[in-house]
Amino acid sequence: MAMQHPRLLLLGTGGTIAGTAPESTQLNRYAAGVIAAEGLLDALPELALLAEIQVEQIANVDSADLGFSHWRSLVERIRQSLAADPGLAGVVITHGTNTLEETAWLLHLLIDDPRPVVLVGAMRPASALSADGPLNLYQAVQVAISAEARGRGVLVVMDGQIHCARAVSKRATQGVGAFHSSGRGPLGWVDDLGVHLPEVERSEPALFAGLSLPRVWPQVVILHGCVEPPQALIPALLSAGVQGLVFTGTGAGQLSVVERDALAQWDGQPPLMLRANRCGSGPVHRCEDHAKLGLLPAGDLSPQKARVLLLLALMAGDDRNALAARLKTLSG
Ligand code: ASP
Repeated sequence: MAMQHPRLLLLGTGGTIAGTAPESTQLNRYAAGVIAAEGLLDALPELALLAEIQVEQIANVDSADLGFSHWRSLVERIRQSLAADPGLAGVVITHGTNTLEETAWLLHLLIDDPRPVVLVGAMRPASALSADGPLNLYQAVQVAISAEARGRGVLVVMDGQIHCARAVSKRATQGVGAFHSSGRGPLGWVDDLGVHLPEVERSEPALFAGLSLPRVWPQVVILHGCVEPPQALIPALLSAGVQGLVFTGTGAGQLSVVERDALAQWDGQPPLMLRANRCGSGPVHRCEDHAKLGLLPAGDLSPQKARVLLLLALMAGDDRNALAARLKTLSG
């Protein structure tokens, strides 16, 4: 009797992995999100030996053009298919690399299932010499159907490395090897010999497991710290009614006097606010003169991941104490 392959769901969203250029030597001038996810599979017949793959297209765009409605569709589709099909081995998502880490973190906070959900992209378009997409996709499928990857939350596979959603970030604008897990390195590796992950690795719980997502999402803005930040910016945002602010503070998440004065002078309801840092690694701790303005430290979350957390916290109806409790869970 023929051996049954594991069944997998592949969700396409676009990106360079699905991008093409007129010439194989064009690495920068190409269109992202051109080839449908079905076409990516057709170009990789080796996958048929690994898994039976059902394909769906959520979007086919550059990842800078993904929106909250795409995020909502992804979450709903993954939740539905995992709930409806206990025999499904896992899910793979093809994605542009520019915002891949944000989508991975969002899904990590919302999807509560031990089966692997794996995001994958490419730094070179599918038409390029030495395109990295096909091997990345092959390896993402290897990971998604593996027993080793179960129960570790959402994963990212690039260049044979397996990263966790919490730590991974894109660190280079060009070339393969652009993805890193700051502070800790990748969780593991994947190659022709299999999936290599350490035996016991506890992933954080899905913090927003049951949260249903509305059609309209809150407005959360990221502000980047720098010398002499524009004075009018914070009052303008507060008057416009933003519900959340993430400060990419200097050093360990430091705000300038200009920024702190603007917050102190605001007499309306303060938004939920997090302090992250612009250094790219290292934690942001609690600091009293910032705390009294209502600012919570984002720990080791990057500004963009802090924003994802804040979006979900606002949708869950968190106040500052509830958000502080969630941050404590994440740091524990
Ligand atoms: N422009 C691409 C994107 O969709 C970059 C990439 O995928 O590498 O994010």
